[in-house]
Amino acid sequence: MTHVPIGIDLGTTNSLVAAFIDGASRLIPNALGEYLTPSVVSIENKEVMVGQAARDRLLTHPKNTAAVFKRKMGTDAGLRLGKDIYSPEDLSSLVLAKLRQDAEVYLGCEIRDVVVSVPAYFNQTQRRATQKACALAGLNLLRLVNEPTAAALAYGVHQRDAETQFLIVDLGGGTFDVTILEMFDGVMEVKASSGDAFLGGEDFTEILTKLICDKLDFPWAKLGANLQSEIRARANTAKIKLSDDDVWTVSLQIKDEMHEIVLTRDAFEEAAKPILRRMLVPIERCMYDTGLDHHALDRILLVGGATRMPMVRHMVTRCFSKFPEFEIDPDHAVALGAAVQAALIAEDRALEDIVVTDVSPFSVGIETSRDLPNGKHVTGLFAPIIERNTPLPASRCHKFSAIRARQRAVEIGVFQGEAAYVADNVSLGQYVVRLPRHSDQIEAFEVQLTYDTSGLLEVETTVDSNGAKSNLVIEALAEGYSRQELELRLDKMKGLKVHPRENEINQALIARLKRVYEMTLGHNRAEIGDMIVRFDVALDGRDPREIERVRGELEDFLDEFDDLYVS
Ligand code: ADP
Ligand code: MG
Repeated sequence: MTHVPIGIDLGTTNSLVAAFIDGASRLIPNALGEYLTPSVVSIENKEVMVGQAARDRLLTHPKNTAAVFKRKMGTDAGLRLGKDIYSPEDLSSLVLAKLRQDAEVYLGCEIRDVVVSVPAYFNQTQRRATQKACALAGLNLLRLVNEPTAAALAYGVHQRDAETQFLIVDLGGGTFDVTILEMFDGVMEVKASSGDAFLGGEDFTEILTKLICDKLDFPWAKLGANLQSEIRARANTAKIKLSDDDVWTVSLQIKDEMHEIVLTRDAFEEAAKPILRRMLVPIERCMYDTGLDHHALDRILLVGGATRMPMVRHMVTRCFSKFPEFEIDPDHAVALGAAVQAALIAEDRALEDIVVTDVSPFSVGIETSRDLPNGKHVTGLFAPIIERNTPLPASRCHKFSAIRARQRAVEIGVFQGEAAYVADNVSLGQYVVRLPRHSDQIEAFEVQLTYDTSGLLEVETTVDSNGAKSNLVIEALAEGYSRQELELRLDKMKGLKVHPRENEINQALIARLKRVYEMTLGHNRAEIGDMIVRFDVALDGRDPREIERVRGELEDFLDEFDDLYVS
């Protein structure tokens, strides 16, 4: 195997990697043998941990550990881990690098080419940030694929003869996507896509966190960072447990006092109603854009871990009067599909008969102003050039004119969104177009917007009278960074020590022991304390067989605890 492109689902909560091998998409396990690698990074003294070990350290080392950073992609938020500050794309690049390493070990070859999935609803800046994360991880990004499209590919690959209209509902940790696709003769066409980039399973965890706090009758702010993280982790466990059980009890110790909090699925569902209502908005928008009737859909697919919640399934069933399917594990579909997309780009023979088309998730246009009949001049109006749900790649031109004669320049503001006023849309950037100096006329110019297959945008203007062209500056940076900036950032990341893979299993066990130690009390706690010492001694001895033996014993013991405290 010399050249295998991989597909990565870079999730808010969990990330996965897959490759298309011998005609089928396969998930690749990490060093712990798991397909899901938590998208959590912990850094201490420049040492990096990614995945389960980092996730356990969210509780024991909250100040050195970051999670849910995908939600901050495309913002200039800095996340402090210990003494240093990292951008969301720095942290994402560490997750990508980890997955790449796992894939290289598993496939036994060097990996460079990758397809990474993003929520369909990711805007330009969020897509750019993902592109930057790939560059920082030293990966060659073949394409960004929209997550629902990837999920549909994972499903569609098995039934390519079918003629189907399907709707995909993807509720992950922090994002919600709804997509309608049509499959016909091996051609998979995205008809419409909508979503909410700030709605996901974590919002349901927040609801339970609030329910727990209300019952505790203790002000949230006074709990301290560690207790707050612990309550969040317990709320997350409760959320998962309440998908199978009607009642779940959380035991918490606060200042020497034990609290037993009983949570019921009914109370949870009642409190979560506003979020379920928010989920209807993108669903309705998608239906409107395709002009389809709710009954016209043949299949409803559920993707994303949070669709395991019965209330989400019921809502979808009620909405479409049809039972949703989830043949492929809802956590796996996106990564499996991203690998199919990677193989399609690499022209894998097994996929010769499949074609995928995608759409632009947003309308994109520029800011304009207009004179009203009453003589008033209104500014800040949005003029869409590419309308949402236009098939990709797409390129559209519109003519505009300057406001008055002898105007020497126009400022072009590019926006994406659906609102009438640009102030309510997302600004993508602006630039100045110079108009001919000696002209006495009202100059006209053309604005051309081009969306490529990754959903990335280019803007170009041409002045009518002299043909002068100008571009939006971000277009010049092929990988989202200038070369100089990229080198600077790469240097910073090189200073970090990523642990060798053999160490990862031991590290994960230590992090787990410490987490359980902090959670337990009395006799149990003392026992875990002994285990930490025993494992330290085994590690010091450096005898791999002995380390493995002790590790096995300790893991069996810890599994019993995690049955109670899965988080
Ligand atoms: P992402 O794509 O954002 O990484 P995933 O598809 O992995 O997300 O889904 C993660 C979300 O699903 C988390 O909020 C997690 O708590 C939630 N989740 C996973 N399993 C369950 C379950 N059985 N019941 C309820 N929520 C679940
Ligand atoms: Mg996901």
